[in-house]
Amino acid sequence: MRIISLASGSDGNMTYVESEKVKFLVDIGLSCAEAVKRLKLIDVQPEEIDAILVTHEHNDHIKGVDAFSYKYDKPIFAHKSVWDNLKFKLIKTPSKNRRFFETDTFNLRDVVVHAVEVPHDVPCFGYCFENNGAKISILTDVGHTNDRILDSIRGSQLVYLEANYDKTMLKEGKRYPLALKHRIAGGRGHLSNDESALLIKYLVESGSRQIVLSHLSRENNTPDLAYSYIAEKLRDYGIIEGVHVKIDVASPNPGTMFKL
Ligand SMILES: [Zn+2]
Ligand SMILES: [Zn+2]
Repeated sequence: MRIISLASGSDGNMTYVESEKVKFLVDIGLSCAEAVKRLKLIDVQPEEIDAILVTHEHNDHIKGVDAFSYKYDKPIFAHKSVWDNLKFKLIKTPSKNRRFFETDTFNLRDVVVHAVEVPHDVPCFGYCFENNGAKISILTDVGHTNDRILDSIRGSQLVYLEANYDKTMLKEGKRYPLALKHRIAGGRGHLSNDESALLIKYLVESGSRQIVLSHLSRENNTPDLAYSYIAEKLRDYGIIEGVHVKIDVASPNPGTMFKL
């Protein structure tokens, strides 16, 4: 499989995944035109995309989904509970392209997809992809983690994991109203750098060797802070970045293409 983050963070999220037999996007939180531009940077034409998988209805994940699906006649996959709200936002998409799944596992040609329900303030799913012994997970917009989530992503060689906010920056920041701060830090909001570090510890112990810190808040985190804070936390757990695990940070711009 090959995978690349084409956009990550508060302003839009989009990840491209391909195997030998299928090419798909996880979320299109950019305009359709911008999504197409970014696909062309990696020599992928929009017509080649087989499917769009949606995590949840927030605009930073679906901004361009309706237009892209409509323009290029592409199916959109989301869990039935996500579609319950999505159907009012994706109004151009004809019913034949509104694909919902109710089971946790389904196939996109040669890729086995596991949908992982995560606590967020609307129905929301992470995804794991398995193909030829490789396992990749994408987990963002996670209010809190639990054993079920960890069990689902365990054994992934590569994990795109939310590190949304630094606790102090969120607490002391002047721009967000208190209610929003509570929403972000609450059990149905987002993962902090601390929570992300603890999950990475478990992931490394289960064999993960590459983590990409994702969905960083523009207001309440920075790439340098997320990286250094989490690397230091991991050191406390006896895990050395660069030795036991490699950590990258996804940005609003296209990142590294990983091959597994
Ligand atoms: Zn989001
Ligand atoms: Zn969200």
